Amino acid sequence: MKMTNSVRVRYAPSPTGYPHVGNIRTALFNWLFARHHGGSFIVRIEDTDVTRKVRGAVKGILDGLRWLGLDWDEGPEVGGKYAPYFQSQRLEIYSETAQRLISQGDAYYCYCSTQRLKEMRAEQVGRKQPPGYDRLCRHLTQEERAQKEAEGITPVVRFKTPLGGQTRFNDLIRGEVVFDNNTLDDFILLKSDGYPTYHLANVVDDHLMEITHVLRAEEWLSSTPRHLLLYRALGFEPPQFAHLPMLLGTDRSKLSKRHGAVSITEYREQGYLPEAMVNFLALLGWSLDDKTELMSREELIQSFSLERISRTAAIFNQDKLNWMNGVYIRSLTADEFFEAVEPYLMMNIPAGEALISSEEYVRDILPLVQERARTLAEVAELAQFFFIDQLDYEPGLLIGKNMSRQSAIQALKAAQQRLSQLEAFDAGSLEALLRPLAVELGLKTGQLFGTLRVAVTGRTAAPPLFQTMAVLGKERCLRRIEAALARL
Ligand code: GLU
Repeated sequence: MKMTNSVRVRYAPSPTGYPHVGNIRTALFNWLFARHHGGSFIVRIEDTDVTRKVRGAVKGILDGLRWLGLDWDEGPEVGGKYAPYFQSQRLEIYSETAQRLISQGDAYYCYCSTQRLKEMRAEQVGRKQPPGYDRLCRHLTQEERAQKEAEGITPVVRFKTPLGGQTRFNDLIRGEVVFDNNTLDDFILLKSDGYPTYHLANVVDDHLMEITHVLRAEEWLSSTPRHLLLYRALGFEPPQFAHLPMLLGTDRSKLSKRHGAVSITEYREQGYLPEAMVNFLALLGWSLDDKTELMSREELIQSFSLERISRTAAIFNQDKLNWMNGVYIRSLTADEFFEAVEPYLMMNIPAGEALISSEEYVRDILPLVQERARTLAEVAELAQFFFIDQLDYEPGLLIGKNMSRQSAIQALKAAQQRLSQLEAFDAGSLEALLRPLAVELGLKTGQLFGTLRVAVTGRTAAPPLFQTMAVLGKERCLRRIEAALARL
């Protein structure tokens, strides 16, 4: 691909809700493309739909980008040569453009009421026709228009879509795309509240901001012929288009709440690491080859190309994300892991459990859970028993397979007695003590260890027993065994 002028791409979210992972994937692909080509990544907030604006949405989006390390060269907070980057602050530009289109005969005022449009649509649907504006106002005479104005109706501005011919373009991912113009209606450019529609504002800004490539989700593909007609009418050279494949859940339906978390904020809260998230999202529709899964940010920038974006839908596989996040968690150094996990421990351990304040204790625990956790929230969950003295479990769990209540009591008593005499309370000594004890008691090691595991951790599955006990320490273990005996 020839890249004479430097690449300028934009991520243009509408602040209508939480930052959806699909949307963030679009941001990531734009960012990777810009970084790969040494170009600019621009963030533009498309806040022209007053009715759908959600408070705090812009912050959520920007925080999400920052968290993932997707820095922008121009946009909110950083400014830039083409500021402002909020469309709501550029209204004049759009209305002037709409005026220009009217004066050159490419757009017209439409006075049709919402009621009329609604009835028209119902009729079209009834006749099984595709719904679309019937162009009534396109043909108003001077007098009719004056009459409507006199009635005080605030009009919208519509584009005069060519009635025949085709609009075609070469999509960088899907190749040649052709639309018959007669399938497009006279879409609105300027709404009656003076705000532009997405189509007008998007085209005007992509032009003014000198965007070279538009990488956006496939759902916008049907808007592209409208945009191209606008570019032509305005005498602007259009950017190149690349429509990214859809994102589906594992059941092959469109990715939605039903599939679990879809907002990037939720992933952050659940303790996914930004590096894992970037790696995972990059592979949703793009790949290096047919096998490479783990790639660092640098490697992704290095090898990202539009040529390797697939045309077929990408599947969002939560299991794969969990696996990948686990890999990234395990690759953290002890210090990094401590830093990352601390806030999650704080949130998960009930107030009043002062143990957490001992950093040394926490640092001893962490290696035992780092191997197993897939998210940071899970780390806190796996480690919780280390911090809580009143373990809550079903006493029956203390009685293992083929054991009686009596043999469980006997086992715990024997262990209690031996452990209290053990000097060095490390994993090796514990193992050397407890293995023979099982034989002595006539139990399988699994039976004795199972009973002990429940007594000291409150669960049947936990990190390796001897290491766990060593970290818990002698006193805590003995107290817990005592408590278990009291329960039996
Ligand atoms: N504001 C649109 C969105 O929310 C932008 C689409 C485009 O990139 O053209 O996704």
